[in-house]
Amino acid sequence: MIATPIGNLEDMTLRGLRLLREVDVIACEDTRHTQRLLDHFAIATPCLSYHEHNEAARAGQLVERIESGQSVAVVSDAGTPLISDPGYRVVQAALERGITVIPVPGASAVLAALAGSGLPTDAFCFGGFLPPKQGQRRKALAAWGEVEATLIFYEAPHRILETLADVAAVLGERRIVLARELTKLHEEFLRGRVSEVVTALSQRATQKGEMTLLISREKAVAVVQAPVAEAVRELVAGGMERMEAIKKVARDRGLAKREVYAALER
Ligand code: SAM
Repeated sequence: MIATPIGNLEDMTLRGLRLLREVDVIACEDTRHTQRLLDHFAIATPCLSYHEHNEAARAGQLVERIESGQSVAVVSDAGTPLISDPGYRVVQAALERGITVIPVPGASAVLAALAGSGLPTDAFCFGGFLPPKQGQRRKALAAWGEVEATLIFYEAPHRILETLADVAAVLGERRIVLARELTKLHEEFLRGRVSEVVTALSQRATQKGEMTLLISREKAVAVVQAPVAEAVRELVAGGMERMEAIKKVARDRGLAKREVYAALER
């Protein structure tokens, strides 16, 4: 299982290169895509396709090749195979037959995004891709929101704005980081509350590039909450200074104080 770069070809490891040269065959998601990587490094090892549509059938064939004495490398289009990519079935099939599986680590968007995010790294939870349909996505977000960890998801650019709307609706104004085009020329980290990142993205004509979304660990705030103004009034009724109450509600909900004032004036 050999990791390949997620953009910058310099991220290909020396060990990965050596093994790609030495194995008998490379199983790859898209042979044309991997061929470009191999050409760049002048590697002549033959490729065969192994992707989500032929994964089950191919896993058996790859295992047979190994049992006949060949060595097989598995790569995906980019990053670490198996991470939101095919590979799991061949690992499973190989292990069932007593074949040694060797991971050759390297680039993976999830870890690169986390490393540059500035969000806590002591506990993080990778959820792969969220469901494409809104209902299921909101349900998934509600469940992930209970997890006491930095949450990390892969997302397609054409869905990012709807996903962020769901994050705001289900989890509230949490701090998020959108890591775009990691390791590439236009690498970018957009950091802020959900609405701030949405505002920044909305100013762009289109959403482009590869994206990894990170959501900070905070208490779920949005769904079961009283409206902002009511929350302030409740605290004041309980004896808290108005200013203190505004500050507290802003802090608890990840809002700017001016947003709380605006809610009070509505
Ligand atoms: N196996 C890969 C890995 O280890 O990162 C991930 C494969 S998954 C099919 C592709 C998704 O990963 C993209 O849609 C995007 O969400 C994320 N991704 C891949 N490359 C990225 C990059 N350079 N910058 C940000 N996100 C990236």
